[in-house]
Amino acid sequence: SVPAAILSALSAAARGGVLFKGGAALEMLADVRAFAFDKTGTLTTGRAEVTGLHAADEAGFLRKLAGLEAQSEHPIAEAIRREVASRALIPETVRDVQAHPSEGITGQDDTGPIWAGNPRMAARMGADLPHLPGLSDGAQTLVWLGRGPAVLGALTVADRPRASARDGLTALRRAGVGLAMMTGDRRAVADRIGAELGLLPPEIHADLLPEDKVHLVASLAAQGRVAFVGDGVNDAAALARADVGIAMGAAGSEVALQAADVALLSDDMAQLAAAHRLAQRTARIIR
Ligand code: ADP
Ligand code: MG
Repeated sequence: SVPAAILSALSAAARGGVLFKGGAALEMLADVRAFAFDKTGTLTTGRAEVTGLHAADEAGFLRKLAGLEAQSEHPIAEAIRREVASRALIPETVRDVQAHPSEGITGQDDTGPIWAGNPRMAARMGADLPHLPGLSDGAQTLVWLGRGPAVLGALTVADRPRASARDGLTALRRAGVGLAMMTGDRRAVADRIGAELGLLPPEIHADLLPEDKVHLVASLAAQGRVAFVGDGVNDAAALARADVGIAMGAAGSEVALQAADVALLSDDMAQLAAAHRLAQRTARIIR
């Protein structure tokens, strides 16, 4: 039977919005030596905003891009849909839409195949990315739209750290655990957000594919138990690989929640640090 100390810790954690799928996950958390975090939607709010735009036909560009992103639950897609709605534009109909985690999205409009995403996606389509005057690439995420090798335009999207993220990371650092940020976003964005959160350069990992996150988690696991905190479809494999997978509950994807051992309902990083302390106290009582 489950020790009373564990049951009471599970319910105390639940009151703080940290839901464990079982007592074993709580015991595992007590032994975690390193916490790895996804960036977008985990350490940042995931409520990104469109901050700049460069296209010959701005309305046409936005309608096509919003059509591609119509079904996506990625924070970038939500930012684009909000921008299009605020300009009272109607998204174009785009068929055969397919998400490519950590790269972008592809589909078909009335003329043929189109794509949107980062330089990795552009390279896959044989597109050379032009320098776009007027689009500041200063530590923002660039989203390119193209048809085959032809670039139709680009926009920039910016997100900011969650209010609780910096304090949550500081509390975990004080507890003596290792920290890492792992993102599919570009280096400049990762470095800016990481610095705002008080992370050190070697703790910041950028330009990662979902499988790169898995490999990084595995390499941290060579030094001790690892927790991974993430929200997206692109985090599911890393959540499953970690000793403790922790999913963002409020805005996280269903896939991430299913792959995780713990759900952070409040999205509050201070509660995560508190749950870690609680797990350690509980482990001392029962061992
Ligand atoms: P993170 O690891 O920080 O959560 P992701 O792996 O989800 O970030 O995304 C990494 C990058 O992939 C994004 O910064 C963006 O350039 C590109 N990307 C992913 N999904 C999309 C999408 N739906 N539309 C456009 N770009 C996308
Ligand atoms: Mg994410």
